[in-house]
Amino acid sequence: MDEVKKRLESELNRTVERLRHMGGPLLSVDVMNRVGDTSQLADEVDVIQVNEDREMNFATRSLLVERANRLAEALERLRGGDYGTCEECGEPIAPARLRVMPEVRTCVRCQDRIERMSRHLAAVGAGVDGEEAEEE
Ligand SMILES: [Zn+2]
Repeated sequence: MDEVKKRLESELNRTVERLRHMGGPLLSVDVMNRVGDTSQLADEVDVIQVNEDREMNFATRSLLVERANRLAEALERLRGGDYGTCEECGEPIAPARLRVMPEVRTCVRCQDRIERMSRHLAAVGAGVDGEEAEEE
């Protein structure tokens, strides 16, 4: 687990550095909580997707903020012993998946569902990521 921790920490540092360079808003756990609160609205907002291009910079920054939050949270989970468990369905996350994206909180199936919702939310400027940077 030490290796995971180191990896998470270095990813987090790198992400925060990039955010600093962009001059974006600083990350906070609040962003993530807000995302959780709004995810139920997803179905109603897909109309607004047209704005996405204009919001590119915003989306990229949001993506970084979200990533940083996820990395920070993954570190929390590591400390709390919850790391590697899907927070949606409670199933263990595949180790291969964790190697690719150490900050993931969900298994592939749940992530897929959540990403679809996030995409809708990003279009409406809710502080969630756009779609380009999911490295899967
Ligand atoms: Zn799951």
